[in-house]
Amino acid sequence: MSNKLNVVDHPLVLHKLTLMRNRNTSSALFRQLIREISLLLGYEVLRDLKTTMTKIETPLMTMEAPVLKGKKLVFVSILRAGNGLLDGLLDLVPSARVGHIGLYRDPETLKAIEYYLKLPDNLKERRVVVVDPMLATANSAIAAINRLKEVGAREVKFVCVLASPEGIDSFSIAHPDVQIYTAAIDEHLDKRGYIIPGLGDAGDRMYGTK
Ligand code: URA
Repeated sequence: MSNKLNVVDHPLVLHKLTLMRNRNTSSALFRQLIREISLLLGYEVLRDLKTTMTKIETPLMTMEAPVLKGKKLVFVSILRAGNGLLDGLLDLVPSARVGHIGLYRDPETLKAIEYYLKLPDNLKERRVVVVDPMLATANSAIAAINRLKEVGAREVKFVCVLASPEGIDSFSIAHPDVQIYTAAIDEHLDKRGYIIPGLGDAGDRMYGTK
């Protein structure tokens, strides 16, 4: 397993995750919950952002106060389920730049096939946070980060809601430099590549497509 694995098991995260796992939870509530969880995960992922001091006037006096330093962050959503986490991260950092990578899983091989790519410029100089709720086989996350590194990304973190032990192992071998943030690690993957016990297909749960 990766030594760069961060399990964000705050009681609020665990409670919201249990509601998400419940098959009777509606798509509307599921979307709300994933957005709320992404705020809490984002808080941890961005904990080491650098700040610099700037002079401001409060109503009472002048002071030096901290503001974020460096180039704007980039959030990259792996379509389509990544968009649920993206919305919450954008609530936290509305000025972040956003990239999208469209990947689907070949149902036979479970390999990731790219069908869409749109990224901000200058990834080399920015912190990149890649989001996808389910780190299952990890094929999509590995392929997405391969692509980001190809176009220059150097500082990358990955955020998911659930991870499988198999996915963590494969991901850590492919990208030992990329920290993973997850709310929980489940038991295993089934033959179709679903996380068990999991929460089902995150995209379908979010958008009511099944
Ligand atoms: N993708 C999902 O949405 N769910 C899983 O369990 C695995 C991959």
